[in-house]
Amino acid sequence: MTSVLRKEMFHLPEGVIYLDGNSLGPLPKAVPERLQKMLTDEWGDMLIKGWNTAGWMDQPARVGNKVATLIGAPDGTVVLGDTLSIKVFQAVAAAIKMRPKRRVILSDTGNFPTDVYMANGLAKLLDQGYEVKTVDPAEVTTHFNDDVAAVMLTQVDYRTGRLYDMNAVTKLAHDAGAVMIWDLAHSAGALPVDLVASNCEFAIGCTYKYLNSGPGGPAFIYVRHDLQDQIEPALSGWLGHDAPFDFDLDYRPGQGIERMRVGTPSVMQSTSLEVAMEIWQSIDMHDIRAASIGLQELFIAELEAQVPELELASPRNPQDRGSQVSFRFSDGYAAMQAIIERGVIGDFRAPDIMRFGFTPLYIDEGDVRGAVAIIADVMNNRLWDAPKYKQRNRVT
Ligand SMILES: *Cc1c(COP(=O)(O)O)cnc(C)c1O
Repeated sequence: MTSVLRKEMFHLPEGVIYLDGNSLGPLPKAVPERLQKMLTDEWGDMLIKGWNTAGWMDQPARVGNKVATLIGAPDGTVVLGDTLSIKVFQAVAAAIKMRPKRRVILSDTGNFPTDVYMANGLAKLLDQGYEVKTVDPAEVTTHFNDDVAAVMLTQVDYRTGRLYDMNAVTKLAHDAGAVMIWDLAHSAGALPVDLVASNCEFAIGCTYKYLNSGPGGPAFIYVRHDLQDQIEPALSGWLGHDAPFDFDLDYRPGQGIERMRVGTPSVMQSTSLEVAMEIWQSIDMHDIRAASIGLQELFIAELEAQVPELELASPRNPQDRGSQVSFRFSDGYAAMQAIIERGVIGDFRAPDIMRFGFTPLYIDEGDVRGAVAIIADVMNNRLWDAPKYKQRNRVT
């Protein structure tokens, strides 16, 4: 296996072991200078000419193609924009239009709430009898039937890290006549994904987690090639129009994936992503996966040996897990605060999940061992049991 460690390419604060790149990736060292250059040379000197001269208008599709290479998608099938919540709305809206006689949008109870909220908001807005059904992830495929218009699942469960078999689930959804939407929030940049092989119709994801675009970085959407000119964009913004600068009051959807654009893209954040994507040029996702599993297995073995009180919340089999490991602990919030104060950054997901992300671009075995030592100290000496660690912050 070729080493995927690129620690020198990231700004990692001294004394910190960062096990939360699954929530917010760290700053790639190349970003500040390049972003500064974009600000002064492009925005500063070119002013509005930057949209053409600096290629800002093409950036969502250009950088979309780079993201596409990590998720097994061909050129011209991925475009950046907006936030993941908005991309969920677009994908579900387009999917249910493809199955006009069906009224169920099926998801699972482990899905990230915003995905379910957005689907429900759409169903309510349409007011045509749509129902968003959430079922146990272990049983989701048994609910595939001819009422289901769209199946919307997040491949890696944000709490437990449980991983769906994308190809198998998609096939079953298609056998039932449903349209398949995959949320790749915890997959893109974390493990090999082959969207073409899966044959799913839509995929969506964010770039500020494993792709390191920074807080608020753009989301992305994939639409299978053969469907691009048939789908109806629900969010019919001007930059998804076939000819936005005709300023025609009649909306006419753009060619191919361009129609999934909405409004003016965030050029600064897309520039951060464009720079961050360069790191992946020499990386094979299968090597990332192997390295990630190695780190996770070491973490679980060491932590369980040293802190028997922690209960593994993630699947035991590494093939059934994404790139994170979660443990259940009743005072998980306080414990995580105490651990963070000692330099190991993970996060907490209600009600009782302590979550640790493994990102082999900048985490190595030494980090894992160092993290386990600190976690074990906090847990075995009940260092978390102090009022200051129990005060909940707005972001956990
Ligand atoms: C992180 C995440 C989101 C976040 O959505 P935003 O609109 O970018 O805030 C949505 N869905 C899933 C599954 C996520 O993991």
